[in-house]
Amino acid sequence: MFHSLFLLLFWCPFMSPTSKQSNHPSAALSFDDPSAFRVKSFSELLRALGVFCFCSFPMLVNNCGKLMSISRTLLGRRGLSLLLRPTVYAQFVAGESESEIAQAMRKMSSLGLRAMLAVPIEEDLGESTGEQRYDNNMRTMLECVRISHSNTWSKDPMMQLKLTALLSPELCVKLTTLIAKQPYDLTMVVRAMDGEAICFPGLDEHERAHFLCALRRLNTIAEASVNKVRVLVDAEYTYMNPALSLVTMAMMKKFNRDDAWIWNTYQCYLKESKSLVLEALRLSQDEGFCLGVKLVRGAYMDKERTLAEKEGRPDPVHTSWEDTNESYNACLNIMLDAISQTPERYRIIVASHNEESIRLAGTRIAELGIDKDGGAVCFGQLLGMCDHVSLTLAKEGYAIYKSVPYGSVEDTVPYLVRRAQENRTVLQGIRKERDLLKQEFYRRLWRSS
Ligand SMILES: Cc1cc2nc3c(=O)[nH]c(=O)nc-3n(C[C@H](O)[C@H](O)[C@H](O)COP(=O)(O)OP(=O)(O)OC[C@H]3O[C@@H](n4cnc5c(N)ncnc54)[C@H](O)[C@@H]3O)c2cc1C
Repeated sequence: MFHSLFLLLFWCPFMSPTSKQSNHPSAALSFDDPSAFRVKSFSELLRALGVFCFCSFPMLVNNCGKLMSISRTLLGRRGLSLLLRPTVYAQFVAGESESEIAQAMRKMSSLGLRAMLAVPIEEDLGESTGEQRYDNNMRTMLECVRISHSNTWSKDPMMQLKLTALLSPELCVKLTTLIAKQPYDLTMVVRAMDGEAICFPGLDEHERAHFLCALRRLNTIAEASVNKVRVLVDAEYTYMNPALSLVTMAMMKKFNRDDAWIWNTYQCYLKESKSLVLEALRLSQDEGFCLGVKLVRGAYMDKERTLAEKEGRPDPVHTSWEDTNESYNACLNIMLDAISQTPERYRIIVASHNEESIRLAGTRIAELGIDKDGGAVCFGQLLGMCDHVSLTLAKEGYAIYKSVPYGSVEDTVPYLVRRAQENRTVLQGIRKERDLLKQEFYRRLWRSS
C-alpha cells in the first residue's frame, strides 16, 4: 500500500523542480524555502502531495466534472463523500459545521494567516432560481458575516460575495446591455437600496420587481457587515460584469464614506482592465467614497474566448499570459501609487499566486513606504494552494488572507469542479509547491530513519 502511494506521489509527471517564474524583480521575497511546510502534519503533507499529483494530470483536471458524476453513480452519494472528505475536500474546503470552520480559522490564525470566507453559491445563465431561493442565499450570506465576525481571533475579517447568488444572471445581462446605451445614475440605485420603488428605464415590471428585491437583499448584507466584515464582490463574466460593478459601486457610495467595507474585483486578463481601474479611482474621487480593489488575473478565460468567437466579437482577453501579467502589474502599480498618497481612502488585495507579481508588490510597498500591515495592502490566495507563498508572506509581516470555501461535500463539489477547471493553468503549474512538499517529506523520512 505504502509502496504504491509512494510511486503515485513521486512518479507523477513534471517532476523537475521548475519554478514558473524565473525573473525576480527583487530578492527581498523568496518562496523557495521548504521549511515553510514544517508547520504541516505528516498526513497534511501526504494529502497535499496526493492531491497536487492528481492535479498535475491535465486529463483528470479537465474531466473532473465527469469523473465526479461517474464516481457518484458507482459509489453513491455517501461513498463519494467518504472518498472526497479526507482528500480533495480537506485540502480545499474548511468544513461544514461552524465548529469545523472555526477550527480551520483558528489553525490559520496560529500560522499568521487570515480567513476570507466564501460561500460556494453562484449562478450562470440558464441556472436562475426563484426569489425564495435568493432570499435563502441572503440568509446564508448573513450567516457568513456572523461567522467571519464572531471569531475574535480573526483580525480585520473579509468575506467574498457572488452577486449572482442574489441577483439573476439574466437580469445582469439585460442591465449590462441597457447601461452600455444609457448609464444608470448611482444615486438612483442607492435610493432603491433604501427601499424607494424606483422605475429603472428599460426594465419590465417583473425585472424591476426582482431588481428592487435584489438591491434590498444587498442592502441588508451590507448593513450587517459594515464596521465588522469587509465584503469583496467577485467579478464574473464580461456579459454581466458592468451590471455587477454598477451595483457594487452603488454599495460603495452608500457604505464606504469613511472606510472601504465594500470592494470590487478587477480581472487583469481583460484588455479593458487598466481603464476600468482608472475609472473606478476617478468615480471614487468624484463621488467621495473609499475604494477597495480585489486584483485578480481572471478565472473565465476559456469561456470568454469561446463566446467571443461564437458571437464574432473581438476577444476581450489579452492575447498572451505575458500581456495579462503586464496588465496585472500595471494595475497593481496604479493602486499602490494611489495608496501611497492617501492610504486611508484606498485598499487593495493582491489576489494572486503569481510569485513575480507578489514580489513586485513587496518591492513597491517598500519603495513607496507603505505600511506592510497597515490595512491598505494585503495578499490573497486560495485555501490549499501555494501555502509556501502565503506562509512566507505571513512570516515577513504582510497581511495575508486565504479564500476559504465552506459547506457540505454535496454543496461544494460543483464549486470545486468549476474552480479546478477555471484554475487548471495554476493547478497544473504547482510543480514548485509539490517539489517543496517533497523536500519536506524527504527531510522527515530522513530524520525518522
Ligand atoms: C483570493 C482570490 C479571489 C479571487 N476572486 C476572483 C474573482 O472574483 N473573479 C475571477 O475571475 N477570478 C478570481 N480569482 C481567480 C483568479 O482570477 C485567477 O484565476 C487565479 O488566481 C490564477 O491567477 P494567478 O494570478 O493566481 O496565477 P497565474 O498562474 O500567474 O495566472 C494564471 C492566469 O493568467 C491568465 N492567463 C493564463 N494564460 C493566459 C493566456 N494565454 N492569455 C491571457 N491570460 C492568460 C488567466 O487569468 C489565468 O487564470 C480569485 C483568486 C484568488 C486567489
